[in-house]
Amino acid sequence: MAVQVDVLIVGAGFGGLRSLHTFRSMGLSVVALEASEAIGGVWNFNRYPGARCDVESYDYSYRFSEELEQDWRWSERYATQPEILSYINHVADRFDLRKHVELNTCVSRAAFDEASGRWIVESDDGRSWNAGKLILAVGQLSTPKATKYPGQDSFNGRIIYSAQWPKDAPDFAGKRVAIIGTGSSGVQMTPVIARVAAHLSVFQRTANYSIPAANAPVSEEEDLEVKANYRARREAARNSPSGLGFVPNGKSALEVSDEEREAAFETAWNRLGFGFALTYKDILLDQTSNDTASEFICRKIAEQVDDPDVREKLTPKGFPFGTRRPSVDSGYFQTFNRSNVTLIDISESPITCFTQSGIRTSTSDHDFDIIIYATGFDAFTGSLLKPDIVGRNGVTLREKWSAGPTSFLGLGVNGFPNMFIIVGPGSPSLLSNVLLSSEEQIDWLANLFEYCRAREINEIEVTAEAEREWVAHVNERAQETLYLKTPSYYLGAEMPGKPRVFMPYSGGVRGYRRFLEKEAETGYEGMTLSRSDRQAVA
Ligand SMILES: Cc1cc2nc3c(=O)[nH]c(=O)nc-3n(C[C@H](O)[C@H](O)[C@H](O)COP(=O)(O)OP(=O)(O)OC[C@H]3O[C@@H](n4cnc5c(N)ncnc54)[C@H](O)[C@@H]3O)c2cc1C
Repeated sequence: MAVQVDVLIVGAGFGGLRSLHTFRSMGLSVVALEASEAIGGVWNFNRYPGARCDVESYDYSYRFSEELEQDWRWSERYATQPEILSYINHVADRFDLRKHVELNTCVSRAAFDEASGRWIVESDDGRSWNAGKLILAVGQLSTPKATKYPGQDSFNGRIIYSAQWPKDAPDFAGKRVAIIGTGSSGVQMTPVIARVAAHLSVFQRTANYSIPAANAPVSEEEDLEVKANYRARREAARNSPSGLGFVPNGKSALEVSDEEREAAFETAWNRLGFGFALTYKDILLDQTSNDTASEFICRKIAEQVDDPDVREKLTPKGFPFGTRRPSVDSGYFQTFNRSNVTLIDISESPITCFTQSGIRTSTSDHDFDIIIYATGFDAFTGSLLKPDIVGRNGVTLREKWSAGPTSFLGLGVNGFPNMFIIVGPGSPSLLSNVLLSSEEQIDWLANLFEYCRAREINEIEVTAEAEREWVAHVNERAQETLYLKTPSYYLGAEMPGKPRVFMPYSGGVRGYRRFLEKEAETGYEGMTLSRSDRQAVA
């Protein structure tokens, strides 16, 4: 017998839990189904040494409760994974969310039932739910790439995936360790593991730009200062391009003198981390402007690395700064000056296979006790396309998105009534402070649901026209940027066979919010809102 609910949420990470709290507060019956054994999403999975956020903790936290904001004390500017996970657990307890979460419940199928106008949702253990609204809060980076080299099963040591970090992870002390991949996870764990391992080898395919985190403990004064001005800080973040807690420079990098630019980059380098890209308004828009930033960062990398050959290999080449997700690091480049650390360039000498004792590249063999894959994710669509999601006329989301994801505002898909996606493709998503973007969407959805309740509307579907126009707008905004110059996960280039479509909305969180506001002001003209007698109005 299917369990009846007003709102069924898939996922219990930051987005799913906030959805649960908000929709329950409206008096709706709510359940969140979570595939894993615990809440927390990526912060439950990515327990690797050195894992931390790269948006400042005070901004990478919920805004919906001023009491929560005032009570919670972040210990560092960029909180570690354990601290973020304990924050999520605190929120779940404080707002009594756990009783609505079904753990170990992987949604395998969700089908829109035309007869009742409701969603029939099934888990892989045979249970089912019948829901008026379906919220997909399945995450943007919750499906790791399943990288596997030939011969892997013959390796005698331990293999670990950074995004499925085991709770019984081995002690690295005295061990020969390999990290494959130098994206954000590889960059974060390299300095930490290097400090204890007998030897660390880092296998790099693409050198990326990385900015120092300038992480530091949060002093009592800083904490009081943020908390006294939290509303203003949140507003500044909402009105910024990417949802970070500071206001970007409104000038072009090319309209200032070399001295002024150098000084601005120096200040940003020493303090802004991820926000370095906002030192000038056109760094991600104009190649010449970007060149000034890229050249500055390459100089900084060179200053940190002693060996000329290693320095050369660690220097990013051939793509503009920021068009692959830059990393924010704590001593990454200096780690390669250690005598127990080796950089192996697999763009020159690719990995051919694993052996019993380690890794073979096209030129040499390397022995290890532990090999860590930090090879990234099937980003944006990986978790959305895993279950069978079946809309009107039996069309699946996989079929609908076979040439790349389409949506209106990143939130709704034509042909999939009463289904909503949290920080999915077509929204600012991974180009922004994701937590801010998800709260923005969930608050907007709450208003939409209230609007519909007041008018006894129970079917909400984005129109084909609104979807077409939004997809065109997302593409137009992307064309204005430098992102399209680089094969990256923004474009689906991380996965063989994935359609090459620019997925996030690059118009910024403020620009995006204006579209949300306009849609509400016009009485939701991009959506068909109808009253069907087939289901009760929730
Ligand atoms: C290491 C790391 C660091 C990051 N740092 C930052 C940062 O500093 N700033 C930032 O803005 N973003 C960051 N991100 C991006 C991050 O994805 C978001 O910030 C945010 O945590 C996403 O929350 P979410 O709830 O949307 O998704 P997730 O946290 O991914 O949670 C989704 C949940 O859905 C569940 N799920 C998926 N499919 C199913 C299914 N079929 N059935 C049931 N359950 C399912 C998953 O198990 C998961 O628990 C980081 C990501 C990673 C991996």
